Amino acid sequence: MEKIQHDVAIIGTGIAGMRAAIAAAEKSDKISIALISKTYPIRCHSVCAEGGINVALREEDSFESHAWDTVKGSDFLADQDAVEFFVKEIPKEILRLDNWGCPWSRTEDGKIAQRILGGHAVNRTVFAADRTGFHIVHTLYERSLRYPSIQKYNEFFVTSLIVEDKEIRGLTAIDLKNGELVVFETKAIILATGGAGRLYGFTSCSHIVTGDGMALAYTAGAPLKDMEFIQFHPTGLVPAGGILISEACRGEGGYLKNKFGERFMSRYAPDRMELAPRDIVSRAIVREILEGRSFEGEHGPYVLLDLTHLGEEKINERLPLIREASIKFAGIDPVNEPIPVRPTVHYTMGGVHASFTETPIKGLFVAGEVACLSIHGANRLGGNALAECLVFGKVSGEKAAEYVLGKMRKEWHVNRETYEKEEKSLSDLLGKEGDESPYEIKKELNAAMERYFGVFRNEDDMKEGVRRIRRLKERYQNISIDDKSNAFNTDLIFTIEVGYMLDLAEIVAIGALNRKESRGAHYRLDYPKRDDVNWLKHTLAYYTKEGPRFDHTPITITKWKPVERKY
Ligand SMILES: Cc1cc2nc3c(=O)[nH]c(=O)nc-3n(C[C@H](O)[C@H](O)[C@H](O)COP(=O)(O)OP(=O)(O)OC[C@H]3O[C@@H](n4cnc5c(N)ncnc54)[C@H](O)[C@@H]3O)c2cc1C
Repeated sequence: MEKIQHDVAIIGTGIAGMRAAIAAAEKSDKISIALISKTYPIRCHSVCAEGGINVALREEDSFESHAWDTVKGSDFLADQDAVEFFVKEIPKEILRLDNWGCPWSRTEDGKIAQRILGGHAVNRTVFAADRTGFHIVHTLYERSLRYPSIQKYNEFFVTSLIVEDKEIRGLTAIDLKNGELVVFETKAIILATGGAGRLYGFTSCSHIVTGDGMALAYTAGAPLKDMEFIQFHPTGLVPAGGILISEACRGEGGYLKNKFGERFMSRYAPDRMELAPRDIVSRAIVREILEGRSFEGEHGPYVLLDLTHLGEEKINERLPLIREASIKFAGIDPVNEPIPVRPTVHYTMGGVHASFTETPIKGLFVAGEVACLSIHGANRLGGNALAECLVFGKVSGEKAAEYVLGKMRKEWHVNRETYEKEEKSLSDLLGKEGDESPYEIKKELNAAMERYFGVFRNEDDMKEGVRRIRRLKERYQNISIDDKSNAFNTDLIFTIEVGYMLDLAEIVAIGALNRKESRGAHYRLDYPKRDDVNWLKHTLAYYTKEGPRFDHTPITITKWKPVERKY
């Protein structure tokens, strides 16, 4: 067995993972760091981020206002101590990235420009045109090259976390270029593996966003929190859905219109209109569709996002990617014509349960979309995800470094049995010759999630959805993997990812069925009101061989008592 030793392993080279690596390396050059990723680092999903990143920088803004908007946006499910810390830390990160060379868009007088996104009271979103994620990722990648203690393992697919006595010992990963299973012996692990948007088919998330880290942590014994809260972004490009038409379009002044030419948001959020939070705008669009006020096309229903009044110059300067993507993928130039859109799955509010990045497993830290810390509660505000990746990426890197430096035990070894068990389970999987195709199972999983766990949910549908997911889990036992080769076996990796997603889907589904109220992105037609008496609490899901076991934990309120959420 091939063994690699490092003090800390960071899984994921998105914004959270790379920020964590830099923070750990800056803490001490005595720590050796493995930065592991199933893709090449700059092909992480974070490069897709468009609209920007929130920070209270302006005179008319304040930490208090950013925190309040975040807590209200979360429908009061956020942990307020984490939110208060978060809003205070993010300005330092924005300026640090400015120093490291991130090309933030500027105002005429050279200041960092800020736009407004949904649910925010003021212009608070820093951006680099509509390629914000791309520029942050490249800035961090370049910076990470300065630290010899960071060793990159690109195209290594992690298959398990090794935990003994509730403490991290290491991980196993497939080296994709030759199919070898490798053991990493580590004292600490930071999971920064991103979200699980690919549980759904119509999603703006990249194909790699399959929830691996959540599933790995869950089976290793860490609970998942608030998984029933899946964010639908209001404006996915029709037909593809995979192309996001950024909220920046509405931030720059775009209008949403139905087939009668009405700016229908006046019915749902008369004050904020198109700049209401995402859960509210997504529900509004689906209502327009259900009540017959949308357009019907060969790729399903849609409403229009109209940017024509912004003018070519502004679109080219602020939204160049949106223009390019609309022309390429829908044959529509937004300078002249409105863009067809409908809600698309976008973000996983839930994730690995952690407090300030520390999980219940000693030595296991989490940051970024894989984590539930919980800043976003039941509904994330646009621009807060990248901010979370930077702030808590740094925190996780520092905490992992401190943990490793403080550790007395010098020797740590993964035993051969652990390795052999994992090797056998992978070779059993590869050898499978059943009747079921993992691709078909994935397709049916996506269809079930969309049909039964969409923007609007109800008891009967969700019960049927749970039944279907469980049936898919059974069928998964009988799959076949066509490609038996070693090098870059994408069939095998896809199949493992489908297995992860089936576990997660069951948790989302049962969590949603259990939560008998409507809050943020979880809207039940049979329980249309928020119920603070019974449900102002987090959901926790624990792994058992028979399926998830559910429990709850209280939310942290520091200042803001829940009130009616109006926009
Ligand atoms: C289209 C789009 C636009 C967005 N725009 C914005 C925006 O403007 N502002 C904002 O705040 N948020 C935005 N978001 C959300 C934000 O981009 C993400 O939440 C954030 O980038 C997630 O970063 P991350 O570092 O947690 O993970 P990711 O960037 O998803 O990186 C995950 C990493 O983990 C690795 N990995 C995963 N599984 C494994 C495994 N098994 N083995 C090894 N490696 C693994 C991957 O290779 C990758 O390197 C947007 C999201 C989408 C979909």
